[in-house]
Amino acid sequence: GLHAAFLTVLLAVLLGTFYGEQMWLAAGGPSERIEELEQAQQQKLDRAAQIEQAEPAEADRLRAHVPQIEERIGQLERLVEETDDEQYRASFNYHLANFLWTFTKFVGEDFFLRVLKLLVIPLVITSMIVGITSLGDVRKIGRIGFWTLFYYFTTAAVAVFMGIVLVQIIEPGKGADDTFAYTKENVMAKEGASAVDTLLDVFRGQPGEPGTGMFPDNIFLAASTTNVLALIVFAIIFGGVLTTIGDEADVVIRFFRGANEAVMKMVHLVMWFAPLGIFGLVAFKIAEEGGGAAFLDVMSRLSKYVGTVTLGLGLHAAFLTVLLAVFARRNPFQYIFGVARALLTAVTTASSSATLPISLECVEENNGVSNRAASFVLPLGATINMDGTALYEAVAVIFIAQTLGIELTLAQLVIIFITATLAAVGAAGIPEAGLVTMVIVLTAVGLPITGIGTILAIDWFLDRLRTTVNVYGDTVGAGIIDARVVR
Ligand code: ASP
Repeated sequence: GLHAAFLTVLLAVLLGTFYGEQMWLAAGGPSERIEELEQAQQQKLDRAAQIEQAEPAEADRLRAHVPQIEERIGQLERLVEETDDEQYRASFNYHLANFLWTFTKFVGEDFFLRVLKLLVIPLVITSMIVGITSLGDVRKIGRIGFWTLFYYFTTAAVAVFMGIVLVQIIEPGKGADDTFAYTKENVMAKEGASAVDTLLDVFRGQPGEPGTGMFPDNIFLAASTTNVLALIVFAIIFGGVLTTIGDEADVVIRFFRGANEAVMKMVHLVMWFAPLGIFGLVAFKIAEEGGGAAFLDVMSRLSKYVGTVTLGLGLHAAFLTVLLAVFARRNPFQYIFGVARALLTAVTTASSSATLPISLECVEENNGVSNRAASFVLPLGATINMDGTALYEAVAVIFIAQTLGIELTLAQLVIIFITATLAAVGAAGIPEAGLVTMVIVLTAVGLPITGIGTILAIDWFLDRLRTTVNVYGDTVGAGIIDARVVR
């Protein structure tokens, strides 16, 4: 099964790289790209006007990008014309590309990814209640809770620290190219949010959006908006209370045990489909980004930045591996092999939450971590333990400062250290969530959020890498807590 999954990833990368551009063309990719570029242009002009007085040189620099963007729009418009042609639309190439676009999207996003998400809510609720009640005693829950949070925070702090050191040494932002920088709407909407506000939002929810926050007024609303954190809190308390009411609880606990086993069986079924689903996700994503040539173009513009992030994530993964060997006394290779499917799912879905079903299954079935530890550490970790994201936010923000030629003071670095750790806690386990919470870090040190535009083009790719480290951190935590606290 695992071999099949690796093979399909390889095939998907090949398809996406060499045929992705055709798929992108057939699906009308250029028109969408034009829209983005037009917005990018507008954003630049707006920003230039805004800083005209304070930083005339920077304003001029931004305006100088406009002709290049216009040229690129011109090229894309020609592409649109070419593909708007009857002969092309009748060609075999067009039909094949169109078919592959629809097919990869269907098996990946429309089916595999959705089924994974579908299982998250039932899985979180049942596994959390089963895990908590099997601890048997409210005091034990406190102990495991304390050490789990301790693990989350210390590893995140190490990750951020490592990120800051690396980006300061390598300085990828000096002379980086931000010609095609473009900031998405959902990021712009966060303008002005303070770190305290964003963190408080985790507790109280977003104003005007019922069902969000740790204590929503309706638990079904929380479930229907995939507010996993609220469900976790509810399940912890519910499970904890069950352990205090004696015999009356037995039937309830048995019910949730049975339900949990059934959901895990369903996860098992989904795994059969994983190779094809993964194939679809990878091939479609590369095609969506315009294929191999477009990817290389973006990569070459930001290669130093990508290198810094990748190096940081790699070092942090190595650090986690050492923790695993020392504190859980585990053979790291065996452990990693056991969770390989989960890591693969993380790379392909870019979502810790969607990966949760698979990581629970891997950790328990392949690595023999007790259900009591796994069902506590993993669901909670998937929503708040994000070492990869924490490292990424710090690197990205300092990178943005470097591209703008801003020297950060030590005090600002400390602020970045704190806010990046918190921003990672606040990020949901969904694709590119870290990009949105990065606004907190930027505003905390007074950098313009339009800086995010510089890294947006490559974020989908780095998101996959950091999500993998996020998931790896959760699974390592499960192993350590199991060995040290639960047993
Ligand atoms: N995609 C990441 C995750 O699910 C969050 C992020 O954007 O950093 O873990």
